[in-house]
Amino acid sequence: MHWLLFITMMAVVVIPIALVAMQEQRWFKKILFYHFPKFLRPISHQLKPINVYYDKLTPEERKRFEWRVYYFLDTTHIEFRHFRSGQLFNYNAIRYLIASVATQMTLFLTEDCFDAFNRIIIYPDTYYSPVTKKFHKGETNPAAGYIILSWNSFYAGFIESSDGVNLLMHELAHALWLENKLFDYELFDETDLERYRLVARKIMEEMHSNENHFFRKYASINEDEFFAVSVENFFERPVPFKKTLPELYSALTFLLKHDPIIHLNLRI
Ligand SMILES: [Zn+2]
Repeated sequence: MHWLLFITMMAVVVIPIALVAMQEQRWFKKILFYHFPKFLRPISHQLKPINVYYDKLTPEERKRFEWRVYYFLDTTHIEFRHFRSGQLFNYNAIRYLIASVATQMTLFLTEDCFDAFNRIIIYPDTYYSPVTKKFHKGETNPAAGYIILSWNSFYAGFIESSDGVNLLMHELAHALWLENKLFDYELFDETDLERYRLVARKIMEEMHSNENHFFRKYASINEDEFFAVSVENFFERPVPFKKTLPELYSALTFLLKHDPIIHLNLRI
């Protein structure tokens, strides 16, 4: 009788609790995704070709790319605030675009990237932040785990896609930089990070005495902004970046563990 009670208890209470707990684990989600991807895709399969990076990947890397996009969307709540009805048509395409850009930037880094962020809020235009008491185009807050973006600037970043200005990449780069700095897990290799910082410091100093620098002036404000602007340029205009600032470009290929020029087979 006791055995029967024990087995019933296991079936009714323990197993469902264990299953629910496992569903919160990345390894469990990964097993499900790798074996049942069609049933788990959060949004349309058709949205894949948005990212040119995807086309250049090997089949194994494509699978990894899809898994990371899935995991990002599964663990990040992306919400749209104060939009008029009809102002945006395909919210899921924008969600997919955000996840695919985040994946493009970190595909060759640890899967822990962006774990500190679980919310992205998009406003139609610049918004007033009660924290800083200023109007912003974008904001990254690792302590509260959110990123805020203005749709107008977000959109402009993709319309003009090779000027080295892209709000989404800029804020995602801030997110990575701060996550690596503030949390107890490492996203970047320590040696690669040190190499990058040495070159970055040298160029920031040069920027103070050069009005017509390859990077916009804003990059020289501090190390955080310099990294965000470097990442925007790395992905949006890698060829002129490498020609103008080869040492910094090379340091970024080590830090992010890949080279867009080689990946996209671009001519230099
Ligand atoms: Zn910034």
